[in-house]
Amino acid sequence: MKPQYDHYIHGEWRTPATGEYFERISPVTEQPLTRIARGREQDIDIAVRDAQDAYPAWRKLPVNTRAKHLRAIAAAIEAQAEDLALLQAQETGKALARSRNDVRVTARYFEYYAELAHTLGGETILADPALHTYTVREPYGVCGNIVPWNSPLQQASRGIAPALLAGNTTVLKPSEETPFSCLEMARIATEAGLPPGVINVVPGYGREAGAALVAHPLVRKVTFTGSVASGRAVGAIAAERIIPLSLELGGKSPNIVFDDCDLEAATAAAYAAIMGNTGQICSAGSRLLVQRAVHDRLVDGLVKLAAREQVGDPTQGATMGPLTTREQYERVTRYLAIAHEEGARAACGGGRPRSGPAKGWFIAPTILTGVQPGMRVAREEIFGPVLSVIPFDTEEEAIAIANDSDYGLAAAVWTRDIGRAHRVSAALEAGQVYVNNYHGGGVETPFGGYKNSGYGREKGAEALAHYTQIKTVIMKVA
Ligand code: NAD
Repeated sequence: MKPQYDHYIHGEWRTPATGEYFERISPVTEQPLTRIARGREQDIDIAVRDAQDAYPAWRKLPVNTRAKHLRAIAAAIEAQAEDLALLQAQETGKALARSRNDVRVTARYFEYYAELAHTLGGETILADPALHTYTVREPYGVCGNIVPWNSPLQQASRGIAPALLAGNTTVLKPSEETPFSCLEMARIATEAGLPPGVINVVPGYGREAGAALVAHPLVRKVTFTGSVASGRAVGAIAAERIIPLSLELGGKSPNIVFDDCDLEAATAAAYAAIMGNTGQICSAGSRLLVQRAVHDRLVDGLVKLAAREQVGDPTQGATMGPLTTREQYERVTRYLAIAHEEGARAACGGGRPRSGPAKGWFIAPTILTGVQPGMRVAREEIFGPVLSVIPFDTEEEAIAIANDSDYGLAAAVWTRDIGRAHRVSAALEAGQVYVNNYHGGGVETPFGGYKNSGYGREKGAEALAHYTQIKTVIMKVA
């Protein structure tokens, strides 16, 4: 990691307008890792104007030429995959194997949206023979993209790639905690031949750089991934400006296990669904709803898996890294105290790992039993390696508990009964439903929330549609 990171604007490194930097602390050692340029309103203004200048030429390129650029970016990311994976593991604390996979998916976003180039057409409307009527999909202009710290590369690329294919240019505001891999991705894109200004990256705090980006008069569309509270703040500015917004927010996703399922497969998937990335996944299966007859067997299986987890430095082979930020470590620790006060029991974990490192923001994988649906640990997003296990008796009860949530991002159902699989997936209020697996699908699968989990969709062809606006041309021919 370099000792200092600047902004990346117009295909080059730029120092911040105010000359201010702040420090990023390592989640593993709690020692200073590097310095980051603090983006403010002036920096956002420079980046957005530069992206606006780049827009007309980028938009005018044939879509296949834009697709070629996307493929070149994908190839360049793959060529530097190991460096990017290591950098992202250092900045986030995520396991190196997971970071490598993130980089593969990041390259895949650019490839996939390049593949969709042929879909960017419109339709012909045959309403009146005297009128030749057709639609075209046009870009918005400069798109703002704001992402959090849990999977920076994937979250940034799933917004940038469709935006670029559609003919938009972008300004990315990565998390103040983890901007490094995103900055390097922009540099790699320039090296791969992307014209300057098509991707600009300005790190900084949400209330400074983030809010300034949404408020900038030249930004015509915003994609935001983060917490509900920040999503509301962004939504208020977007509403005032009347610009379209996609919100990808939090979740408290139910994973429902019926007693007729393949319990071994369900146990392994339920464990990975919450413990992957140290629980810092928006679609994590954080509420495990278990039919009473298999409750104890399932919990025993989860505890055994937790005992095998190696919690430690992700760059040294650990399977579970620390929480990414100090704030998140303190938040998870608070929720563990709340769980105790509410009467839940930790079947394993419940705090720092007993034989783990003395420093770093580590929490042992924690399985909470005796959780009632009304408890805070059953309702609020913890965003850490903490699973709330809730028993149920009937299908109706499981659906009622699952849907009794402010969130609606993902949900899963485990059963061998095909009728039940259909009934339950139809009844669940969630943007993605998994049956007999807990896998968010590839880059092709639309992803987003119901209720407080947000609106709009990322990934798949659906996301590409969000980066275009439709123009209808009605031409008199007779
Ligand atoms: P956060 O809302 O604090 O920050 C997310 C991003 O928004 C950061 O870049 C931050 O600087 C910026 N930001 C914060 N306040 C802002 C404001 N007022 N105006 C503009 N920008 C602002 O969230 P976080 O703590 O970084 O991330 C964790 C949250 O993100 C969790 O709730 C998680 O569920 C959610 N998340 C959702 C998805 C998804 O796809 N649905 C994916 C990952 C994370």
